[in-house]
Amino acid sequence: MDATPLSNGARVVIIGGGPGGTGCALALQNKAAQMGRRIQITILEGKRFSGEHHYNQCAGVLSPPLPELLKTRLNVPFPTHLGYIEIPGYVLHTGKETITLDGDEHPSTALRRIQFDEYMLRTAQERGIAIQTARAVDLEFHPDRVVIYAENATLEADVVVGAFGLDEGTAALFARHTAYRPPDALSSVVTKYHPESDSLAAFGSHIHAFLPAHPHIEFGAVTPKKNHLTINIAGRSVDATHMQTFLADPQVRAALPSPEQPRQNKRADFQFYKGRFPCSKARNYYGDRYVMVGDAAGLVRAFKGKGVTSAVLTGIRAAETILQTGISQQAFNDSYRTANQDILRDLPYGRAMRQLTIIMSRFGLLDSVVRAAQHDITLQRALFDAVSAHAPYSEIAGKVLQPQVIWGVLRAFVS
Ligand SMILES: Cc1cc2nc3c(=O)[nH]c(=O)nc-3n(C[C@H](O)[C@H](O)[C@H](O)COP(=O)(O)OP(=O)(O)OC[C@H]3O[C@@H](n4cnc5c(N)ncnc54)[C@H](O)[C@@H]3O)c2cc1C
Repeated sequence: MDATPLSNGARVVIIGGGPGGTGCALALQNKAAQMGRRIQITILEGKRFSGEHHYNQCAGVLSPPLPELLKTRLNVPFPTHLGYIEIPGYVLHTGKETITLDGDEHPSTALRRIQFDEYMLRTAQERGIAIQTARAVDLEFHPDRVVIYAENATLEADVVVGAFGLDEGTAALFARHTAYRPPDALSSVVTKYHPESDSLAAFGSHIHAFLPAHPHIEFGAVTPKKNHLTINIAGRSVDATHMQTFLADPQVRAALPSPEQPRQNKRADFQFYKGRFPCSKARNYYGDRYVMVGDAAGLVRAFKGKGVTSAVLTGIRAAETILQTGISQQAFNDSYRTANQDILRDLPYGRAMRQLTIIMSRFGLLDSVVRAAQHDITLQRALFDAVSAHAPYSEIAGKVLQPQVIWGVLRAFVS
């Protein structure tokens, strides 16, 4: 297949209207206008975010450089009107120890993800991108086009963008027609808690992150939102029982305001929701006339954090490849893969960090790390970067694997 970029009148169909899909659509729209080309862009999104009918599972923590990406690459203002709170830092709990990690000049923000998704999709629509509320249910790849069968229409496109997250049905659809294979995933259980407003204020605006010595729970978090707390756990196969165990953990109960109160509280409190995080790269996430972005590609930090930012970023990079290099496997290999080297290079470090964390938490060794970090600013910074997802894992490993840091941890272990 020839590798020429899209020309005037070309059509792009994007399956999925989460941050990866809307990021890609808005970048295509902007870039095509700058290049003086007319491209017809359609997003197929099966969920209705307006009216809060459906949602994408998320704690709603949006990390830098997302505001910058929205502003400079998509010309979209950060939705400050959605009532977000600034996250100044984290309180890390490791079984027996606790440490507060502060000090970043670019804090993350926490808002309701459903409102963010609705904002992005509405902005895309206002800019002339067609939004169809329907699921893609089948595909055909032809030498000159892709046919996308949706629940309400049949569409044809020069290229299809897979922005469908970890939707297993849609992944199976692509796997049937292409060499694409979805990423491995961790499962997650999420719940909400609405304490009284004074208790919520007393909780503060730090995220509490937990690395418990539990064989199934890899990590847990309590995230303050404008009017509630979002609580989530993650692991290979966590379920409702693991969430109950987590909520009963003395360290978690001590962190939550008035833990006895919620049962008589708001109706939705402690209903459990299920979600998944990618923890590896997808295989063959691009080919002739298709490219995956965000979770569908597994192009996120392995282990922890920044899924929304990575989805928008990889959506922008796919759009640039489509308009500047082309839509063949070769074009995506030359341009999209290269553009994502920052994420790809860091994946092995993230995986190693995840394994090390699992082993250390099982044996209670993370407590020594936290004790050592109380007196070591380099280690504190490395922990902040790991928990906040603000720095690549390769950089964090460089900070942690210094002789004086290792020596400090060993001393804390024997003391
Ligand atoms: C419990 C939990 C908490 C998280 N918390 C955070 C956080 O605080 N901060 C953060 O940055 N990331 C967080 N993440 C990760 C983040 O949610 C994802 O990385 C991010 O949503 C990926 O964006 P995406 O656009 O690739 O996919 P998604 O956001 O999953 O969007 C995919 C969209 O595709 C649609 N779709 C799927 N199949 C079809 C089809 N066949 N036809 C039409 N539409 C289809 C879906 O309806 C969906 O809207 C969390 C994840 C989980 C599970």
